[in-house]
Parts: sequence; structure tokens; C-alpha cells
Amino acid sequence: MPVLNRKMGNDMNDLGPLAKPETAPCVKLVQACLGTTWCKYGKQDLIGLICAIDEKFKDQTFPAKIRMGVSGCPRCCSESHLRDIGIIANPKGWTVIFGGNGGTRPRLGDLIARDHSADEAVDCAQRLAGYYRSHAKSHERTARFMERIGIDLLKSELLSLIPYIPLKKVK
Ligand code: SF4
Repeated sequence: MPVLNRKMGNDMNDLGPLAKPETAPCVKLVQACLGTTWCKYGKQDLIGLICAIDEKFKDQTFPAKIRMGVSGCPRCCSESHLRDIGIIANPKGWTVIFGGNGGTRPRLGDLIARDHSADEAVDCAQRLAGYYRSHAKSHERTARFMERIGIDLLKSELLSLIPYIPLKKVK
């Protein structure tokens, strides 16, 4: 991972071959802890999940920027409830949250799925992001998008099509 040096200024070339200027809204931030790797409270392996997220979301663009928060346990140090897509580890698997936001109009994200495998959680995040890409207005963040469409429409149009989500569990 390249480390910024204050003397380097703002030249993207200083960040190495993987860095490139953004030309459209994309995943701006994946805030994460290291789960079981470094923290005694960690419930799942975050490193593998974050690598999968990086692979799935790189080069994707969206109507507005997306921030993610991936936390290794329900203490939620990565502020997953306040991110566009939040993923939280628990002893049984992963919880997925969608539509959270901090800032001047904060919103807690909606609970989408819980107790799923890492593959299912990443797949769910990808499907949510795809639905958001197809249905949100330009520059509309996920929090405002969810306020506009509501969780019931998301359930009927998307979540009911995801085989591993039992809808009666999503309150
Ligand atoms: S969310 Fe916080 S307490 Fe939980 S595993 Fe991550 S760093 Fe540790």
C-alpha cells in the first residue's frame, strides 16, 4: 500500500500504479477494522471480505459516491450504520445495512440481511449497489434514495429476488 509523503504533493503518480484519478462517482471509501486478525472482539475474517469487495466494486460508477463501513463485530468501529453500505460481523456471519449517512443529514441505514456467509454478504452489497445505480437520480446519495423509495419497494423489487434473504427477518 503506497504511503503519502507530504513532500510528494498531489501527483497521482506518487501513489503508484494502482492509483488513478476518478472520472465519475464511485466507491470513495471502505472504512474497515481488521476483525479477527488484530482485535480480540473480532467475529469474522475481514481481510478476505474486503479483498472481495475491492475486486467486485473497483471501476464501478454510481449516481453519487458510495462509502462503505465494514466492522468486525457489533461494536461497529467502522460506523457501518452510517455508511451507504455497511457490513458487520457477528458470531453467525455477516449483517448487511444499506442507505446510511453521516454528515449534516444523518440517517441510520436499513437492515437488509443478517447471519449470511461472506460470499452472500458481498453478493448482496453488489445487488444493492446495482439497484441503486439503475434507479437513483443523478447525485442522489443512498440515504436520500431510500427515503424517497422506501424499504417496502426495495423489498418487493430487489430483496424478494435474492434467494438467501428470508424477507420476514428483515424488519
Ligand atoms: S468493530 Fe471494533 S471492537 Fe469490533 S472487531 Fe472491529 S475494531 Fe474490534
